[in-house]
Amino acid sequence: MKIVDRLKERNGAPFYSFEFFPPKTPSGVSNLYERVERLGKLEPLFVDITWGAGGSTSDLTLELSSNFQRQFNLETQMHLTCTNVTKETVTQALQQAREAGIQNILCLRGDPPAGQEKWEATEGGFANAVDLVRYVRQLHGDYFGISVAGYPEGHIDWFKDTPEISEEDYRRDLQYLKDKVDAGADMIITQLFYDVDVFLKWVKDCREIGINVPIVPGIMPINAYAGFNRMTGFCKTKVPKAIRDGLEAIKDNEDAVKEYGVQLVTDMCRRLLDNGIPGLHMYTLNLEKSTVAILNNLNLLKNTTSRRALPWRPRIGQKTE
Ligand code: FAD
Repeated sequence: MKIVDRLKERNGAPFYSFEFFPPKTPSGVSNLYERVERLGKLEPLFVDITWGAGGSTSDLTLELSSNFQRQFNLETQMHLTCTNVTKETVTQALQQAREAGIQNILCLRGDPPAGQEKWEATEGGFANAVDLVRYVRQLHGDYFGISVAGYPEGHIDWFKDTPEISEEDYRRDLQYLKDKVDAGADMIITQLFYDVDVFLKWVKDCREIGINVPIVPGIMPINAYAGFNRMTGFCKTKVPKAIRDGLEAIKDNEDAVKEYGVQLVTDMCRRLLDNGIPGLHMYTLNLEKSTVAILNNLNLLKNTTSRRALPWRPRIGQKTE
């Protein structure tokens, strides 16, 4: 079923979804299956499987997506990017996804492959995500639910060499987002962010230019200080000073960082839901404890067994995941 149709059935009740990436090792894959089986019992609205940078994990992405959809009966959204792919590859991937019962695709341009500064289209491929959206609609009509990526702080391409995006480029980026929706996307999932005001303003700006599809915030729990710095550095995420200072003070205590992250992200999510945001897309990073603790704090979890085991409180010095 398309995610947007599942969303309609909820009549405004908030939802959550989980994103996973294809692990690099066989043991990582088997851990992921166990984790997804457990998390699936929490009845997420859908789960996402990423498409490895430059198509590096395409076979595994397809395999995991198919199995999560079929074996675990989870509504699965498969990511698909334009990096290093031709139309033929996309045609094939869509066909395989369809045969596996997958009905939701997140259409992306993708980042440049490792070691390459600037993104370049592949010959016989696509120049931007909007072309991929058009192609999926052209080949499969209305069969797939299509999501696209949105950037509350503007896409990084517009401010690689400057700390801020200009107002003009911010507006241009919004217009390109609208183009993706006009081409057939029916949902937007956003890049991670830690400034709720920035996100809410951006949603308002989207609505003002006529973007009317559901907008789902991408939520990244803070699992470790180094990982948080790496991700926010890579994405050039604006991190409010209070959060930087709060984390800096406890950076050598892994458990304190996790606990701080759970509280912080819980408060962020509460504000988002209080402001009418329909649900939360959790970037799990293939981990589960922080994600589950946040959802539990928000009283969103359905499964009573998991609820009994929570809230999660690490003991100092305890290895957690
Ligand atoms: P686009 O929408 O094509 O935008 C890319 C840039 O081009 C933007 O600056 C935009 O403003 C500009 N632009 C758009 N249209 C035009 C036009 N017509 N003319 C000129 N400029 C234009 N990456 C992966 O490799 N695998 C994944 O699984 C993955 N999952 C993601 C999930 C989410 C929710 C998000 C937010 C990102 C994800 N990414 C993933 C990262 C994503 O691929 C990168 O951020 C990439 O740089 C941009 O992809 P896009 O689909 O937003 O591109």
